[in-house]
Amino acid sequence: MVSAVNGQEKVKRQRAHKARMELTDAQAVALDEQASAAITVWNCLHAYWTHFAGKKPTLTQADAAIRQARKDADFLTVLPAQAAQAVLKTYAQAWENFFNPNHPAKRPTFKTKKGRPHLAVDVPQARNLRIVHLSAKWGALTVPLVGRVRFRWTKNLPGIGKNSPAGRVTGVRLVKEANGWYIVFRTEQHVPQSTPHRGPKVGMDRGITVPLALSTGEKLRHKPWLTSGERERLLRLERTAARRRAARTRGEPVSNRLARTYDQIAKLRAKAKRQAYDWQHQTTATLTRQYSAIVVEDLHIANMMRSASGTVQAPGTNVAQKRGLNRAISGESWGRTVAFLTYKSADRGGCVPKVPAQGTSTECHRCHTTTAGSRESQSRFVCKNVRCGWIGNADINAAGNQLHRYNSAAGPAVTGRGDLQPLGGSVKRQPPRARSRALQEAALSGAGNLRP
Ligand SMILES: [Zn+2]
Repeated sequence: MVSAVNGQEKVKRQRAHKARMELTDAQAVALDEQASAAITVWNCLHAYWTHFAGKKPTLTQADAAIRQARKDADFLTVLPAQAAQAVLKTYAQAWENFFNPNHPAKRPTFKTKKGRPHLAVDVPQARNLRIVHLSAKWGALTVPLVGRVRFRWTKNLPGIGKNSPAGRVTGVRLVKEANGWYIVFRTEQHVPQSTPHRGPKVGMDRGITVPLALSTGEKLRHKPWLTSGERERLLRLERTAARRRAARTRGEPVSNRLARTYDQIAKLRAKAKRQAYDWQHQTTATLTRQYSAIVVEDLHIANMMRSASGTVQAPGTNVAQKRGLNRAISGESWGRTVAFLTYKSADRGGCVPKVPAQGTSTECHRCHTTTAGSRESQSRFVCKNVRCGWIGNADINAAGNQLHRYNSAAGPAVTGRGDLQPLGGSVKRQPPRARSRALQEAALSGAGNLRP
């Protein structure tokens, strides 16, 4: 047995873990200032990067520009040099994401400090963090130029404390949310290669009426993310905010009262988001323990959501309805569910194959015919094939189709968009590199909006 373990190949596993920080008032102010300086650095970079039409600065030049800016502007020195360099890295990545046709990222822009900016500070190296496990519920670490801070200990971090798994923390990112500052640890562990999962396969469909439907007939539901009282309060706050916004003359700064209302709204939304994360983590953990393959639709989430309003030349239709649907989609955040499933499955030797979505909601999963009017309502599917006549939930039917498509394609692998791959196969699409590079060069030479 021992030799089998020793002979096993190890794989690197990188994860993130988020924990709430407890800051003194002074520390919170210091972090706010750092994050604000990080935004300034981003904006300087963006001005610098987009200024030289015809040639793009190299990373070395950009780095030198940041160093110079830190010398010139005193207030930028509140941001540790490492964090400033991390901004450069994030900024360069933002352009790469923009030029990747399979990434929904938009063109990088200036970040505004008005309203509610996304505040974050990177500590890219863990060298001087001195993370310790203090007690059952608390840990502590040193944040550069802020000092010693405590954070909630909810999970053993690799390489820290007595009972923790082997591995290390490679860096952290500090992010501000509606209810305060959080710390996100990047961890790295070397774990034995997972053995193939022996469980059954299942099809899974996202629904609007049912959050998740399985081909087994099981429907996975959750309570609303907010209580009815909280939902009423949120609605009231949104109306108040709209009224105050309407009463404001253009260009006038946001009043304290309106800012307070925005904060209250943000807190409730953040709570809903935390609830959604909790449910998604628990549900996907259970599913990946149980099933070896969880077959999902290859939906182009970004496209589905973006297409509603259309453009000035070609305005969209039913914008309001689609917006409502979009909200429902993002409330369930299908993309995040699939992301959780994917990494959790990989840990357990399973996989999450994607199959083309087209027709899965109108085809009968039992007889595989598509009959007119079979989709009687949002939730009800009635097969009109006289020799079949299956009646049931439409989402369950779609999930059944996905499993069938995967099973019948598991022989020859189909690659490309909406690829069908056998067990364990990669579902990552290769971006069309040549085209992307051409676009990249075109755009960096000053031609701005060349995005397809
Ligand atoms: Zn049928």
